[in-house]
Amino acid sequence: MKVPILIPNIFNHPFTYDSDLKLKEGDYVIVPFGKSKITGVVWNEFEKKNNKNFTVKKVLRKLAIPSLKKNTIKFLNWFSEYNMIPKGMALKLLLLSSNAVEKISSEAYEQFKIDIKQNKIELSKDQKKCLKKMNVSNQKFRVHVLQGTTGSGKTMVYFEALKEIINEGFQGLILLPEIGLTGQFQNKFIEFFGFKPAVWHSGITKKNKEIIWSGIANDTIKVVIGARSSLFLPFKKLGLIIVDEEHDQSYKQDEGVTYHARDMAISRASFEDIPVNLITAVPSIETYDNVKKGKYSLSKLDQRYLNASLPNYEIINLNNTKLGSQSWIPKETIEKVKFHLEKNDQVLFFLNRRGFSPYVLCKKCFNSYSCPNCSINLVYHKKKQNLLCHYCGHKALLNRDCSKEGKCNFIFSGPGVERISEEVKKIFPTKQTTIFSSDTMNKKSSSKTLEKIINNEIQILIGTQLISKGFHFPNLNCIVVVDIDLSSQGHDLRGAEKNLQLYHQLSGRAGRTGKPATVYFQTYNLDTKMITDITNKDPDIFLQKELEIRRENNLPPFQRFIAIIITGSNETELEKEAYKFKSFIEGTVEGRVLGPVNAPIFRLKRMFRVRLLIRGRKSLKMQTSLANAVAKFKFPARIKLTVDVDPINFN
Ligand SMILES: [Zn+2]
Ligand SMILES: [Zn+2]
Repeated sequence: MKVPILIPNIFNHPFTYDSDLKLKEGDYVIVPFGKSKITGVVWNEFEKKNNKNFTVKKVLRKLAIPSLKKNTIKFLNWFSEYNMIPKGMALKLLLLSSNAVEKISSEAYEQFKIDIKQNKIELSKDQKKCLKKMNVSNQKFRVHVLQGTTGSGKTMVYFEALKEIINEGFQGLILLPEIGLTGQFQNKFIEFFGFKPAVWHSGITKKNKEIIWSGIANDTIKVVIGARSSLFLPFKKLGLIIVDEEHDQSYKQDEGVTYHARDMAISRASFEDIPVNLITAVPSIETYDNVKKGKYSLSKLDQRYLNASLPNYEIINLNNTKLGSQSWIPKETIEKVKFHLEKNDQVLFFLNRRGFSPYVLCKKCFNSYSCPNCSINLVYHKKKQNLLCHYCGHKALLNRDCSKEGKCNFIFSGPGVERISEEVKKIFPTKQTTIFSSDTMNKKSSSKTLEKIINNEIQILIGTQLISKGFHFPNLNCIVVVDIDLSSQGHDLRGAEKNLQLYHQLSGRAGRTGKPATVYFQTYNLDTKMITDITNKDPDIFLQKELEIRRENNLPPFQRFIAIIITGSNETELEKEAYKFKSFIEGTVEGRVLGPVNAPIFRLKRMFRVRLLIRGRKSLKMQTSLANAVAKFKFPARIKLTVDVDPINFN
C-alpha cells in the first residue's frame, strides 16, 4: 500500500512511500531518504502534486511507539500554516533531535512515578471559589483565566485543578516562561503533590529527554513542567494545559521557528478538546480582550496570602537634589534605605542594564566603542574586564590607541548594575551585596547565592529584570528603581504594556510575608503616564485604556501583524530586492504592506536588515496568501527572508 510519510526537514509536504506493513495514521516509521535512513510519521494526507519522477521507496520498519494522535497531527498542520513554517519543521519540534525513542527500561520512569500524598495545604475561601469557577465545563475545550495579585496563591488553585485531572487518569502540562524558575517551582510542586514532576527544557540531559519523551508518548509520565518546547511533546492522554505567567513575553520565540507558546497552547488545547488555564497577575492585552468579549472565563484572587498588602509607592524627585558626577543615588534615597535596613529589611536597587556602563567614549579622539558586527554600542563589563555586544556576543578589550598619539582616555557614560553596585558599596560598606543579573545568576553557584538571599545573609541586591521573574524573597521589603525614565525610551507598540508588566512583577517581589513594603521610583519626570499607570492599584484601568488606544489605532489584537525581515550583506542590493519583493506581494497578499524600512538595529551579526510589515484582518487567509507569494518570489541566494507572525519585538 502507498502511505504518506512526513519527515522532519524543511519540506512542507509528506513523501509517498510503499509498504507491506499494516500502517495507520500517526505511526512512527524508519524510511530511506536520499542516502540516509530517517524517522518519519505516517501523515493524514498525501502530497498534493503527484511527482511521478521519483521511484517510490519502501518503508523500512515500524517503530514500537504508540502512534501519534490524530488531533496532534491536525494541530501540527494548523501550527505550520498559522506560523508559516514548513510542516516538516513543525514535526521536528515534536521529535527528539529528529528521532523518536523506542525502548526504555521501565525502571527509568520510576523517578517520575505518580504518588500523590496528602498535604496540609488548605485552600482559602477565595481560592476555593476560583477553583470552582475554573472547573466549570472541564471536560472539553475552554479557556479560563485566573487573575490574582502577586503572592495571592494562584499556584495552589491550579495545582488542585491539576490533581483532579491526574486522578481521572489524564496527563497535565504546566508551561513556565523562564527556565530559571523551575528550581523554586519544583520544590513547591513536591510540597503539594508529594512526587517529582518531569521537568523539560533545553538544558536537561539527553538521557532525561529520552526518558521523558517516551514516558509521555506511552502515558507512564503524567505531569510535565516545561519551557515553550514542552508544548510539542507527544502526549497520549493530555487532559489539561496550564500557562503560568501568561502575559510574559518570553513565551514568544523570536529566532528560528517563530511562534507564541501561549497562543499555541490554547490552540493545542482546542485541537485536543481539553481545558486550558491562563494564570497571571495582570493579563496581556490579548487575553484581557478575550475576557471582555466573553470568549474566556475569568476568576479573580484579590487578597494576598496571609493578608499581606501590596507595597506602597513613593516618588523621589531627582530635580530636588544635586547628584555628584558619578552618582545615581541621592541623599533622600539613602535615608529611606537606611530606615529599611535598620528594620532588617532586604533592599533591591533595580536597573535594567547589565554591565558597568552602556557607552564608552575617548575624551581625546571622541571615538566611541561600537560593535563591528552590529549597529549597537558595546557595553563595558568591569568584572569581566571587557566590552561586550549584547546582541552577537562580540568581545573587545578596553585598550585602544588614539589616532594621534598615546592611549585613549576613556569616559564611561551612564550606569549599569555593576556601577550602581560600586556606589552602593561605598554608601553601605558594612552590608553584604550582590548583583542579580543574567551575567551572575546563570551559573552553578547561583543556587547558593539564592539561598543566601532567602536567608537574608545578603542585605542589598542590585538587579536587572531577571529578578522580576517570580522569585520569592521573604525579607525583600524595599525596592529602589534607580532610573524609571530609562523605561519610557524606545518606541514599541507594546511599550506601555511591557513596562506595566515589568513594574507590576517587580513590585510583586516586595512585602511577601506581610511586613509593610515600599517601592521608590527615582525620576526627573514627575507626571509621566507610566508612573500613574504603575502606581494605580487596579490594573484593569490601564488595560481598558490601553485596549482603547489599540482599537483606535487598529493595532493588535484588533488587526493581525506579520513582520518580514529581509537580511543581506550588501546594503544596496538588499534595498533593491526589498522594494522588488514589496511590489511583487502587494495586491496578492490579504492586507496592507508597509515598508521597507531599515530595522532599528540596522546591522546585526554582520548582516544589514530591513523590515516590512503586513497588517490586515485576523484570518488565516493573510498567512496563506503571503505563503503563496513568498513561494513564487525568487531572492538571490545571498538574501534571506524571515517571517514573524504576531511579532512582539521590532528590533
Ligand atoms: Zn554585535
Ligand atoms: Zn582616543
